[in-house]
Amino acid sequence: MAAEPIQKANRDDGGFRMFTIQLIVLAVLFTTATYAAIYLRTRALLYESLRIQAENHFELVVTARAWNADHNGVWVKKTPGVETNPYLEELGIVAEIETTAGETLTLRNPAIMASEISERLESRMGVTYHLVALDPVNPENLPTEWEREGLVRFAEDPSPVHTIESLPSGRRVYRYMEPLVVESDCVICHAAQDYRIGQIAGATSIGIPVADIERQLAANALTLLLLGGLSIAAAVSSIGWMTSRLGQRTRQANELLERAAITDELTGLLNRRGTLQRLDEEIARFERSDEPLSVVMLDLDLFKAVNDTHGHAVGDSALRHVADAIRAEVRAYDVVGRFGGEEFLIITPYTEIGAAVALAERVRERVSAETVVPISPPVMITVSGGVAQARNGESVDQLVARADFALYKAKETGRDRIEWSPGAPRPSAGRNGDVDS
Ligand code: GH3
Ligand code: MG
Ligand code: MG
Repeated sequence: MAAEPIQKANRDDGGFRMFTIQLIVLAVLFTTATYAAIYLRTRALLYESLRIQAENHFELVVTARAWNADHNGVWVKKTPGVETNPYLEELGIVAEIETTAGETLTLRNPAIMASEISERLESRMGVTYHLVALDPVNPENLPTEWEREGLVRFAEDPSPVHTIESLPSGRRVYRYMEPLVVESDCVICHAAQDYRIGQIAGATSIGIPVADIERQLAANALTLLLLGGLSIAAAVSSIGWMTSRLGQRTRQANELLERAAITDELTGLLNRRGTLQRLDEEIARFERSDEPLSVVMLDLDLFKAVNDTHGHAVGDSALRHVADAIRAEVRAYDVVGRFGGEEFLIITPYTEIGAAVALAERVRERVSAETVVPISPPVMITVSGGVAQARNGESVDQLVARADFALYKAKETGRDRIEWSPGAPRPSAGRNGDVDS
């Protein structure tokens, strides 16, 4: 009949801690994933904008070349710094003429014009153009390793290639390369190389410095890191707050349930389960210490007749009345429980049998002296009691059985009496009270 120890609250706390940790881990993962996705998307968009810039630069150069080609090259005034293209002369093309006005004009073919426009753009915007071919006429147009790989790849797949390169100077450059297709005008200069129209003869490799964009990306990463940290802190604190509130509410609900599970609804006393739990604890304490422990079993006399005569509601009032009478007589540290239908058990720690009998007598006298239910005629009730003092090594069942047996004796010998467990000497004054003789 030993009562189960209640350790549920601890288990619940562990469960809540686990639940909170799981929520926090989820929030951290979700926030980290969100901010990482924002960072990666921004990064991809910035690089995409670089690609679009490079494409536009390429288109600009191609358009300029096409314009020049449409005019079979353009003649410009030869001024200091404007040199005649030596490759044209090598190819036997007239590249320099005198006007009737005595001015010298020099021919700007598509390639040299594109290269001069590129130089302007490079000095203005830092964007580099590199005309490359596997077998160039101009040695400056020899490809780098990456450009060579791209040129070889274009033979299979003419779609543009791009990369980020770290230059030996430490500068980082976005490189974009798109193939140049041989058009009719190209063949004029490149006849010696056996170029065919439509063939990929080379490529324009465009370089855009990325220092600015990488600085922006680093600032962006820092901002996102900060925002992510703040979001995580906010999520963790609200989860912590919510789960602690939830835990508090659940603990309160559990406490109410636990109390309800050991409380008698009619009298508000401990029920049988609760009484046995407490008796178990008190016996354990009695075994550990030298302090005495006694119990009083009280039973309403001829109670069935009260119910039969006045009805169940009156019977209930009588039970509440007896409960109140017991409450009025016991000390703060005594434990009172409704042990059965019309049976009450009083556990009296630190109490010898004498004092326990005295207590039982006081309850008996109070109950028999008072009108239990004020109806006409008034319902009077008496109680009988059995008292037993705990012995070393005795179980809860054995102690209760001895009190029960004493109660049986009280009933047998006329009711409205208190008896005590056989084997014990006739109780005398106890240390916590006196026995009425
Ligand atoms: P005794 O003096 O030998 O104890 O006689 P008794 O009539 O009190 O004993 P018995 O065991 O015959 O009857 C107990 C009665 O207690 C029967 C039952 O109707 C009544 N009872 C038990 N629980 C309740 C309750 O919660 N409310 C009411 N009104 N009556 C109850
Ligand atoms: Mg009875
Ligand atoms: Mg009974």
